[in-house]
Amino acid sequence: TRTAIRDRHRETAAAVLPEHTDLYVGGEFVTPDAGGTFDTVDPTTGEVLASVARGRESDVDRAVDAAWDAFEKTWSGYSAGRRQRVLTTIADTIEEHTDELARLETLDNGKPVSEAKIDVRGAAEQFRYFAGIVRENPGETMTAGSRYGQVVSEPYGVVGQIIPWNFPLLMASWKLAPALAAGNCTVLKPAEQTPLSALRLAELIDDIVPTGVVNVVTGYGEEAGSALTSNPDVRKLAFTGSTAVGKQVMKSAADSVTDVTLELGGKSPVVVFPDVSVRKAVALVESAIFYNTGECCEAGSRLFVHDDVADEVLDGLIAAVEDTTIGDPLDEATDLGPKVSREQVERTTDYLDSAREQGGQFLVGGDRPDDEHLADGCFVEPTLIEGLAHDADAVQAEIFGPVLTVFRWDDYDEMIDLANDVDYGLAGGVITDDITRANRTARDIEAGYVWINSYHDLVPGLPFGGYKQSGIGRELSADTLDHYRQTKTINLSLR
Ligand code: NAD
Repeated sequence: TRTAIRDRHRETAAAVLPEHTDLYVGGEFVTPDAGGTFDTVDPTTGEVLASVARGRESDVDRAVDAAWDAFEKTWSGYSAGRRQRVLTTIADTIEEHTDELARLETLDNGKPVSEAKIDVRGAAEQFRYFAGIVRENPGETMTAGSRYGQVVSEPYGVVGQIIPWNFPLLMASWKLAPALAAGNCTVLKPAEQTPLSALRLAELIDDIVPTGVVNVVTGYGEEAGSALTSNPDVRKLAFTGSTAVGKQVMKSAADSVTDVTLELGGKSPVVVFPDVSVRKAVALVESAIFYNTGECCEAGSRLFVHDDVADEVLDGLIAAVEDTTIGDPLDEATDLGPKVSREQVERTTDYLDSAREQGGQFLVGGDRPDDEHLADGCFVEPTLIEGLAHDADAVQAEIFGPVLTVFRWDDYDEMIDLANDVDYGLAGGVITDDITRANRTARDIEAGYVWINSYHDLVPGLPFGGYKQSGIGRELSADTLDHYRQTKTINLSLR
């Protein structure tokens, strides 16, 4: 019942909320200069979880100063081995707190706790991976006539990192781990919808990371976020979030010619060939779109299913949707939790309305569930829509909800043209047992990451990032370290 869910969430909150909800600057939790807080809300119950410090420009400036101070006094003097040990200890600590962090994430974001645990393990894995690949940079030397050249790479010093609400702890780790591994200090701005796991992480690493190396400034995007992007002492910006805000970040970075990497939106195609087992196709397509309530930048949100298997695959998907357990995300058996906020529910239902107006047929879902025990939460039904033109709003826009638009195909070239006919190019999926088709299609999809016979499977070591308007730069791999370093040439005259 509603009351039971509410009581359970209150009890869990009492057990796992961070002690501090202030800004984490220079190794201390401090109140913002101008005071002020904002509320973060539990999307399952609608209740306020915590009031969190509303950082603004002067707070960001303070955090950037603290980060430079730490860089100059301690962090730049740390050997790779010492940084490695810091990262490994962070990984161990995150792992030791898996249950607690997962439940906190579930309260703040609404994701099922079983998925939140995968996030926490993934966060620890990030720190372990970057600990594993960081080593003293040997650089290069060269002689050219009477010159002796040295090429060294150096950290930027202080970087600014802005993350979204869909994988709060995981995105914090994707940002922090490579930045620290490469030798930088950082100011991290979590999303205002989900600031709690980053604050808890700050508490947990306070004894591990030297003072001021990691700073967390909570606040709104237009205040704390934009202050970070326009601070000229920030030498590199890393942003994950919407394409619209990514463009603003890039413009703002241009004012001080700051290096920027962007991980933005997606509208990824999943292509099903006629040779595959229907069961396998259904399982992969279901996970591609409904994992994390569709709140994944790489979600497979456009299905291209071959005519020969379309009816069977769609019937299987409808059955899978009808079988989905929508409910309290603290429950291990829950498959689909609420969306992160009322605002995101409205965004999704607006797209559902527009799909209805533009001729979409709803195969299943299309509304908010009317169960009485879910009435307080930001729930949306998993939804399949067929019959839309490819230029319909719900097909072109990143909905970021559990909404799959479906297309049948029999002409390969036409299908690929449509698959690529979006502004985004983050990811794609190909489902077939024919290796030649699989590889050809993977090449033909204009995207930075293509899965063959899996989806969402992101492995440290394999670079992740977007083509087209889905971003610039790659995360999760050795390439990422290069985004956090700059090259210096020292040319010595031997004359
Ligand atoms: P957003 O881009 O507004 O927010 C992401 C982060 O940027 C947050 O920390 C936010 O505070 C910050 N931010 C916002 N405005 C800023 C500004 N002017 N300067 C600097 N930082 C700023 O995303 P959202 O509004 O939370 O979600 C909107 C849509 O973005 C979603 O519906 C979805 O389509 C997309 N999205 C994509 C991803 C992704 O991983 N690709 C993640 C979250 C959201």
